Amino acid sequence: MKRFACPSCDHEVFFDSLTCLGCGIDLAYDPDSARVEALDGRPGCDNRAEIGCNWIARKPEEGAFCASCALTETIPDLTVPGNDLRWRKIEAAKRRLIYSLLRLDLPLVSRAGNALRFRLLADEKMPDGRVQRVLTGHDDGLVTLNVSEADDDRRERMRTEMGERYRTLLGHCRHEVGHFYFDVLVAEGGRKAEFTALFGDPDQDYQAALNRHYAEGPPEGWEDRHVSAYATTHPWEDFAETFAHWLHMTDGLETASAYGLVSAPDPYARGPVEPLAQAWVPLAIAMNAMSRALGQPDLYPFVIAPPVVEKLGFIHDLMADRLRSAA
Ligand SMILES: [Zn+2]
Ligand SMILES: [Zn+2]
Ligand SMILES: [Zn+2]
Repeated sequence: MKRFACPSCDHEVFFDSLTCLGCGIDLAYDPDSARVEALDGRPGCDNRAEIGCNWIARKPEEGAFCASCALTETIPDLTVPGNDLRWRKIEAAKRRLIYSLLRLDLPLVSRAGNALRFRLLADEKMPDGRVQRVLTGHDDGLVTLNVSEADDDRRERMRTEMGERYRTLLGHCRHEVGHFYFDVLVAEGGRKAEFTALFGDPDQDYQAALNRHYAEGPPEGWEDRHVSAYATTHPWEDFAETFAHWLHMTDGLETASAYGLVSAPDPYARGPVEPLAQAWVPLAIAMNAMSRALGQPDLYPFVIAPPVVEKLGFIHDLMADRLRSAA
């Protein structure tokens, strides 16, 4: 993420600022300029009052929502107490995702015509008392998120039960779109052979792989080849996890550079992935040490082994046409 300043008084403002704390003017993020600007009579997103979305509305002929909210096809039932706050938290995480996708100018519709869109759903109690569970996942561009993930206590309990090191709303968003960009950049992009050499055969039985993972857990030594235990489940999941980590690394390095914490190459400029990974690993170690110094869990509880750098390199290469040429 870049660093932002108020266009009127130059006070530091943030990606999600609605007003400037320095001079009090109303602010809006404009994804076209990638800047926080004065709202100044321009129409803000129709969700501005309701969930604090600070993005500018798209062109009038494209509707009243911003480029991020417009991708949400279904919002949770707002008559259920708490769902307004869950919706607000998920959209805030999703805007960070969409920031990256728009900066990279990634397609939001596949060649097969599947548009990236989101539905935010809650588990439902059926008349017979059974609970219909909503599974977070991706299907042909449609990302489903279970809104209970927005409850900190529930998400943390899931994280502990699943033996995961990290579970966040932004992580879910970045992982699920990874599946969409497998379709768009790998399958439709004619890169399946290269993918298979690095990640394994994507056509192996997915349900059998999931069942095996939940019955047996990850294979021993998984950290030598995979970024997370879940990435060992199936080559699709490995790609989605690695895609999420490429976005963590890119956004993390852009943020750290903006605050003068590292000197790393511009992650949005074309070039090899190795210098980015070489900057990211010591930064992550330092961030974790800071977290521990303040009594918090590790900020980035992952080890990036050389084969994982290679997989990140594959994703970096898929993005090459979208990254600015460094010159
Ligand atoms: Zn100001
Ligand atoms: Zn919005
Ligand atoms: Zn997945």
